[in-house]
Amino acid sequence: MAFDISKAVIIDNHAHSLLRNFCEMDEIAFRQCFTESRSMSILQEHMRHSIHYTDLLDHLERIFNTRDEAAFLEFRAQQKESQFAQMLWDDVSIGALIIDDGFQNDKAYNLDELASISGRTIYHCKRLEGLIEESLIAASSLSEAETLFQNKLKETRGQKLVSLKTICGYRGGLQILRPSKDEAHRDFLRLKEEFEETYLRIEKRPVYHYLLLQAFELAAELNVPVQIHCGIGDDDADLIECNPALMQPLFRSQRFAKTHFVLLHCFPYVREAGFLCSLYSNVYMDLSLSISLSSARGTNMISDALAIAPSSKLLAGTDGHSCPESHWYGALCWKRGLTGSLFNMINAGLLTQREAEETGELVLHGNAIRLYRLEGLA
Ligand SMILES: [Zn+2]
Repeated sequence: MAFDISKAVIIDNHAHSLLRNFCEMDEIAFRQCFTESRSMSILQEHMRHSIHYTDLLDHLERIFNTRDEAAFLEFRAQQKESQFAQMLWDDVSIGALIIDDGFQNDKAYNLDELASISGRTIYHCKRLEGLIEESLIAASSLSEAETLFQNKLKETRGQKLVSLKTICGYRGGLQILRPSKDEAHRDFLRLKEEFEETYLRIEKRPVYHYLLLQAFELAAELNVPVQIHCGIGDDDADLIECNPALMQPLFRSQRFAKTHFVLLHCFPYVREAGFLCSLYSNVYMDLSLSISLSSARGTNMISDALAIAPSSKLLAGTDGHSCPESHWYGALCWKRGLTGSLFNMINAGLLTQREAEETGELVLHGNAIRLYRLEGLA
């Protein structure tokens, strides 16, 4: 049996929705889908010298017969959204997606609309920070905030919810505080004095982490994992504070032994994340954003992860957002990186062809089906 995962279905465990009218993007809007930078100079001058972006244009040429960015943008502006998205996602066998709808949610299609446009099953991932902020704004005491937050979490269960997610890495870092109820109470009162009535952007502080830790416990009750952004990501994040090793005390704690955690992005801490996955049965990882933004390192990153993490712990995600090319490119990078990494392992005598194929299928869909309990999907 020749080893081949090119046609294997991908279940994208970390992605975002498409923007309304995504076919009408100009050059800058399109480039923004492939960088975390908002610098105009990066977008205008440097993107065309980024290997992942030129690689993206090379692969688009395979389908659309043009290597010219302006000609491609003109062409895609004429396309029907649904047909265009489905053609791209069919090309790389994206079978289903778990969508975090906490990003650009006023400008993007909602989950039902996305399901209809893409013809895919769409599962829901709920960001905790929005719920925490809403609860803190509405409550007049810490206990009221706790009740509101827990009720909001339980309410999301009916909405095809398969995962929770925290962006605490971008809101002060992954060193999680362990406040007592008294400390959280005092901090709640301070917060109420500080912030404006209708807007709150929560950053690392006792009351935030107090509710976050409650959510981690509740996730086990709801039977859904918690995704955690680690490593590269938003430009306002402190990269040093986004090392997943900072969460080790939490993974070691009995209090969260029944909660499953998925470390997202991970780069440049792929080895640290892999080690955590090898230590703790409830810790998983993906590479999502990293695999697209640093696509030249796809094979190396996957090898670093699989060198230490069991293959039952690595999940595929694209972090695609706004335009369907971003999900498509992420999926393409996963298949290419996995193929390279598994071939190297076959050549080194570490895996047989059959074992390599089984490993590829676990990473691309098997692990996601099991972890997120996506019954009904084969
Ligand atoms: Zn992400």
